[in-house]
Amino acid sequence: MARCVLWITQNLKRKALGAALLLLLHLVMAAALINFPSRARPAVQLLPLAGRVIALDPGHGGYDPGSKMEGVLEKDVTLEVSLWLRDMLVEAGARVFLTREKDQDLLVIPTGPKKKQDLENRLQLITGARVDVLVSVHANSIASPRWYGAQTFYREDCEDSRRLALLVQEELIRTLKNTDRKASVGKGSYFLLENSPIPAAIVEVGFLSNPRERRLLTEPTYQKKMAWCIYLGLIRYFN
Ligand SMILES: [Zn+2]
Repeated sequence: MARCVLWITQNLKRKALGAALLLLLHLVMAAALINFPSRARPAVQLLPLAGRVIALDPGHGGYDPGSKMEGVLEKDVTLEVSLWLRDMLVEAGARVFLTREKDQDLLVIPTGPKKKQDLENRLQLITGARVDVLVSVHANSIASPRWYGAQTFYREDCEDSRRLALLVQEELIRTLKNTDRKASVGKGSYFLLENSPIPAAIVEVGFLSNPRERRLLTEPTYQKKMAWCIYLGLIRYFN
């Protein structure tokens, strides 16, 4: 009798526990449905680069080395940084369009002013690719070895270009910590910036004329860090 009462008591307890657990499960599911409706949060907030088309232009290439100091060529530095950046963007779901993936220029016609033709062909490629944004990578060089630091340039009459440049510059200051330079209007010498029909930013990744920065710019770790800053800027731009 005592055993029977005990069995009934245990059985009732088990049933009550089962009912309580079922109720709890329903409550959790209801809370989940209230808090996370499937279409309430667009995926773009979680993956801001997914589906974006980004053009990367590694400055110079082929016949045109760009700046050159102590055997370090601008065209090599710009390509390496751009390739690191491409990998990061692709990993994040973006579609990346590179104006060049190796040491080459974009000359087609063997006569006439080479630089102009090269830049016009880059612009034509970018325009035809229907990209969302353009980042052109360059490196500085001046007569004095004193100056250093990366700097981003934008087009004065394009708010998106300005916003992108400001965000990339913020990341260069915050993450790379090698500069207190400010994003600035690129005037006169940036053909792509001035003629691009899409928002664009020029990133001058540093000064090849500064011995320390020149050495850093040839190191894969530093090139990757540089690419990381531009990548973070792009994430913030699209977010
Ligand atoms: Zn350049």
